[in-house]
Amino acid sequence: MFPESEFKVRRTRVRENLAELDVDALVVTALLNIRYLTGFTGSNGILLLTPSREILFTDPRYTVQSKRETSCRVRTVKGPTLAAVAKAINRLRLRKTGFEYHTIPFHIYTFLNQGLRPGGSLVPTRNLVETLRMIKSPVEIDAIRRAVETNSKAFSKVLPTIRPGLGERRIAADLEYQMRRLGGDGPAFDTIVASGSRAALPHARPTSKSVEANQLLLIDMGTIQDGYTSDMTRTIFLGRPTHKWKKSYQAVLQAQLAAIDAIRDGVPTARPDQKARKVLKSHGLDKAFTHSTGHGLGLEIHEEPRLGKRDRNKLRAGMVVTVEPGIYLEGGGGIRIEDTVLVTPTGCEILTPTGKELTVI
Ligand code: ZN
Ligand code: ZN
Repeated sequence: MFPESEFKVRRTRVRENLAELDVDALVVTALLNIRYLTGFTGSNGILLLTPSREILFTDPRYTVQSKRETSCRVRTVKGPTLAAVAKAINRLRLRKTGFEYHTIPFHIYTFLNQGLRPGGSLVPTRNLVETLRMIKSPVEIDAIRRAVETNSKAFSKVLPTIRPGLGERRIAADLEYQMRRLGGDGPAFDTIVASGSRAALPHARPTSKSVEANQLLLIDMGTIQDGYTSDMTRTIFLGRPTHKWKKSYQAVLQAQLAAIDAIRDGVPTARPDQKARKVLKSHGLDKAFTHSTGHGLGLEIHEEPRLGKRDRNKLRAGMVVTVEPGIYLEGGGGIRIEDTVLVTPTGCEILTPTGKELTVI
């Protein structure tokens, strides 16, 4: 779907890092990193990158697909894919082969390690491809935009149908149905629909419980489209919210806007979190905010950078992050408001078009 030049540029960036890391090659085992570097979307693949070569190993199920998706040299292997990778490493006389420390399955590491000739060794690399993935290219930003738009459209299709008596699971199913109808590949994660006191669980799963009048309803949903994700949370009220909930809603909204306001190229990733916490503190709600303010997204729903108080990264133009402060009151309920946001050189662009004013249905 993306132009081949896009993948070539990415592979060149990885190569530029190899010398710096003092490795002769990188063996990429994380499937989404392989997709990022080659365009290949199959479920079995290992990519071997050296300064002058790139070989994608897969099996005969993907002979046709791999040809369509990537310009990399593809080796379709009939036997165990890994054995062929080890053989290639040995044949190319690679001394130090980098591997993906955070994601390589232990059995793959062990097999490769045992298959190397004397003199060859595996060297851990940390988040090499993930770091490149943090900054999105224009075509990736367009893909995320489409995922965000489909997600918001699905929400606005289902919102008017929500009424007391409808089950949480039914609402989640309707949302996910609309995601697909409107062009998405499906949900980017299990849709969260939590009503009343269950909204106090930040990651509640929908249950058979029906939503009731005069309760709040938290919906956290994301669509994956052309491989890229989106993420949005809205908290709505069925019937009349109490004065206390209305005030709390405004506090969370104010915190979210303050966090968004802090987003700009060059700003520490901890800053939006500090801003959100400060607002909630002024409302006496900071202790009810039990998670970090946001996360990057892209091919995965949770990517670097994280926007938490302990994170020591810097926001850069081209990053796409969520901003999602929330408060959770045990036995009471919860409120979270989440948008997907693009970092720009001068500030940010809120990609999510769905309104955030208090919605009462
Ligand atoms: Zn979310
Ligand atoms: Zn999120």
